[in-house]
Parts: sequence; C-alpha cells; structure tokens
Amino acid sequence: MEKFLRLKVELNGMYFIFILGTAGSGKTTLTKTFQEYLLDNEMDTAIINLDPAVEHLPYTPDFDVREYVDAYEVMETYNLGPNSALIASIDLILTKASEIKSEIDQIEANYVLIDTPGQIELFAYRETGRLIAELIKGNNKALGLFLLDSYLAKEARSFISLLLLSSSIRFRLDLPIVNVLNKIDLLRDDEVDKILRWSENAENLIDELGKIDEYSIDLVHLLIENLSSNLIPISSTDGKGFDELYAEIQRVIAGGEDYL
Ligand code: GDP
Ligand code: MG
Repeated sequence: MEKFLRLKVELNGMYFIFILGTAGSGKTTLTKTFQEYLLDNEMDTAIINLDPAVEHLPYTPDFDVREYVDAYEVMETYNLGPNSALIASIDLILTKASEIKSEIDQIEANYVLIDTPGQIELFAYRETGRLIAELIKGNNKALGLFLLDSYLAKEARSFISLLLLSSSIRFRLDLPIVNVLNKIDLLRDDEVDKILRWSENAENLIDELGKIDEYSIDLVHLLIENLSSNLIPISSTDGKGFDELYAEIQRVIAGGEDYL
C-alpha cells in the first residue's frame, strides 16, 4: 500500500530539491547519499551540481555548472582573488542561462537534487542565486533542504542562529524548507534528543538559554512556532534517517502551499 502511494506521488511530476546549508554542513555528501537512497527505492534521480568551485564530487552529476563556469578559470582569466572569483562565477552562470536551461530541460527524473555552492551567501543572498533557482525549477514543484551541522547546532545560540539563517533563506528563495540535522553520528543520542526537544517547544530552548531579553524570547517563539517542517536527524555518512527525511519531503509536497 505504501509503495503504491509513493508511486502515485512520483508520477505526478518532477520535484526539484535544493540542498542548502553553510559551508561544510554536508550538502555534497547528502546529495550523494540521498541519490543512493532514492535509487535503492526505485526512484529515478538526477543531480545538478551548481558549485563552480568544487574540486571533487563523490557523485556523477547529470548537469555540472563547471562545464560552463569554473571558479578557478575565472580567477585566472580575470585575475581575481578567490572570493571575488566565486562571486563573479555565480553571476557568470546567468550569462549562460539559455544553454543551461536547454540542457537541464533534457533531464528526466522523479527527483532532481541540486547541490548548491559551498558558501550559502553566494547563492542565497545574491539576486542571481534566486534567478538561477527559478530558471532551474521552471514550473515544477520544488523545496529546499536546509542542513544544520550537528556539531554547531548542539550549542543553543548557534542552533538559533542556524534557524534564523534557514528562515531567511526560506524567505529569500521563496521555497518550502525542510530542516535537516546532519552529522548526528558526531553526537551522543542524548545530545540529539536535546536538540530535537528544542525544535519541538520554544520553552525548552528558552530554558536552555538562561537569562535572556524580551526580544530573544519573542524571536525564539517566532522561529520555533513557525518551522516549516519537523527537524529531521540524519547522518549522510552512515545513511541514517533517510526514511524519515523522505517521508517529511512527501508531507511537504502533499501539503503544497500550506508549508510556504
Ligand atoms: P558542503 O560544503 O556542505 O558540500 O559539505 P561536504 O559534503 O563537502 O562535507 C563537509 C565535510 O563534512 C566532509 O568532510 C564530509 O565528509 C563531512 N560530512 C558530511 N556529512 C557528514 C555526516 O553525516 N557525518 C560526518 N561525521 N561527517 C559528515
Ligand atoms: Mg559542497
């Protein structure tokens, strides 16, 4: 029965899943592990690499932006430092928009995973990033996975900062977001449980923070009470939690606009 329901959702169209998160949060690793998971469950999956500066990919992309723009070449050609070269690379992607679009239009899959540039601000906070996201998904449905690095998230203030980043990206890209607690293999079970309790009830998080001002209290309530999904604990290196992640994605897809 469950298999049948899954198929029914699949055949309804293509879903674009943007993998987002701070540098080193595990976007590229998750892209690989999630593709393996989906293929094991007989779902067609394609991968788009949007990182012009990545040196090594653990998966074979169906579309690789480096064929059009390579940050290292941009650095040499325009005599730029690494940061300027990255910014220029993202902007240069748009100059190739029509070629890129026609290549992406050839992709046929149930799910298209989009691995985004290492530094999230380059993609999410520049107008180009938003335009590229629009270009890629076209009229198809899409959502974002925002990865929180467990090692950072175990500290309450860092956890709140990551949720703020996640909600600003949700606003910026105008996509429903599933928050994912990645790298749980680095934490003890009780540490993971504590973070999950924070995500379920603002008071738990406020208690952890101790003495804080009114603004922070309001902010924590706003963040926790408006999460667009449950926080899903996973490990991209161990493959743990992917059944739950898949189920949450299905819920968001089925919920449509309600989750925006
Ligand atoms: P990206 O910059 O967000 O694409 O991050 P990467 O996928 O390149 O991962 C950054 C580092 O974190 C690499 O050394 C990965 O092996 C490691 N990593 C990613 N996911 C996990 C995980 O679930 N557990 C652990 N222990 N390490 C991880
Ligand atoms: Mg990466």
